[in-house]
Amino acid sequence: MRVDIISIFPEYFAPLDVSLIGKARERGILDVRLHQLRDWTYDVHRTVDDTPYGGGPGMVMKPEPWGEAIDEVLAADPAATPRIIVPTPSGTPFTQRLAMEYAEEPWLLFTPARYEGIDSRVMAEYGARLRVDEVSIGDYVLAGGEAAVLVMVEAIGRLLPGVLGNACSVADDSFAPGSMENLLEGPVYTKPPRWRGHEVPEVLLSGHHGKVARWRRDEALRRTAKNRPELLATLDLQNLDKHDRRL
Ligand code: SAM
Repeated sequence: MRVDIISIFPEYFAPLDVSLIGKARERGILDVRLHQLRDWTYDVHRTVDDTPYGGGPGMVMKPEPWGEAIDEVLAADPAATPRIIVPTPSGTPFTQRLAMEYAEEPWLLFTPARYEGIDSRVMAEYGARLRVDEVSIGDYVLAGGEAAVLVMVEAIGRLLPGVLGNACSVADDSFAPGSMENLLEGPVYTKPPRWRGHEVPEVLLSGHHGKVARWRRDEALRRTAKNRPELLATLDLQNLDKHDRRL
């Protein structure tokens, strides 16, 4: 997968050199290209922002540098088009389902903003001919979109074939479409079996796969009820068995 990121802080993306994503890049599974937005400015201050029309506090990112930067990234491969992802708190929620959808794309272009965001005509311009998604990583406001892009690239990157050692772990993750859809994963344990007086639940030592699976499912339902009760209401009743309903 190719990922282009245009930002006024390309150095913010140093963590993409590390761990799973760093290895995916080294192995050529993920091709990340960083671009400095200010390279498409022509004044001595390399200005990317201006005051908002209509007044009010803060600054808005100017359309011209974004337009030129995006055009140049698009021109790099005229035979293909990226899906453009614009991080914004006013976007649609970024979910595991969306991460899986993005992981199927060959090319993503992220446009993390600063200040009050990007002049809306940029999204209108590219939205008329390409897929442009305005996406939020949560109901809070960050100082800039770079951290949001790091979150999304990590969530998407770990889903790419060959990135995770055990692809099955994705299916068992919290929110994974299928049996974990809208469910949180339950608690996990490793050796030793007793630590500071805390025991590992006996069923996990039983070697009985059916009982372990049942226990994990029960714990997922319990944890979801405790931490995210609103998710329970969204569970598909068709997918619940009689043991689920008992809880
Ligand atoms: N005034 C904007 C609003 O209330 O919607 C917030 C602008 S925020 C200070 C600057 C930039 O940070 C945004 O344009 C976006 O790129 C990024 N950002 C902030 N919160 C975000 C979130 N929850 N999800 C995705 N991006 C976010």
